[in-house]
Amino acid sequence: MWGLTGQLVAILVWAAHLGVAEDAQARDRARSAKTVSPGISAPLPPRRPVELTHGRPSQASTPTAQTTPAPAEPQALIGPPACFGTFSERGGIALPAASESGSGACAIAEPVTFRAISMPDGSKVELDSSFTVTCAFAVEILDWVREDLPGIVAHEDGKLTGITGVGGHACRPRNGVAGAQISEHATGNALDVFGLRLADGRTVSLVRTDANTRSLRERLKTSACARFRTVLGPGSDPSHKDHLHLDMRQRPRDYKICQWNID
Ligand SMILES: [Zn+2]
Repeated sequence: MWGLTGQLVAILVWAAHLGVAEDAQARDRARSAKTVSPGISAPLPPRRPVELTHGRPSQASTPTAQTTPAPAEPQALIGPPACFGTFSERGGIALPAASESGSGACAIAEPVTFRAISMPDGSKVELDSSFTVTCAFAVEILDWVREDLPGIVAHEDGKLTGITGVGGHACRPRNGVAGAQISEHATGNALDVFGLRLADGRTVSLVRTDANTRSLRERLKTSACARFRTVLGPGSDPSHKDHLHLDMRQRPRDYKICQWNID
């Protein structure tokens, strides 16, 4: 009895909407305006049940859904770069606002300014001045200081407490020569170092000829040249006779420069 009645209703419904049967949106409006039970969908033209299997009946109650543009892809959260979290996790102790972040050709991407590094054993390594570099380069420095330097210094019965002669951002051409290509220091991608301060009060110069520190400096050179793309010290050129220069300058074919004569 119900089947017969259902079929009759279905035919009437179908006939009432025959004129718009080929219009998909109109069909959806029809579905939203009238709840159609599965029992009466059977006799309808074959395309209708096929559409119902596409999981769209729920959309039928919101006829405008089909014409509304798909929602935009989720936007990245606005906030500090992810590198800043890495910087802190790797022992960086950031100072407020990088005032030396520069502009134009001397702008630093994601600058961080710091003057101390928290070491894995809970101690701190103090730098003799604060300096500003890109966050990515800062992480390279942190890894070098925390992972390599303690072992190198311990080999000479020392404990690292500080780094001296530190220089970072400087808006200038290479080696200070007018007209030369801009220095890695200009974009916060370089570090200058003079020496290491030890817990017993010694300061180990990285550039002074000294038989007592030769072994330590040789280990430092091996470590620095493995981590950084440019290492320039005494013996490389006149402008690096009194300090060690480290940077991460990218070159074709990943070419690296390691020039530091140990005397
Ligand atoms: Zn330098």
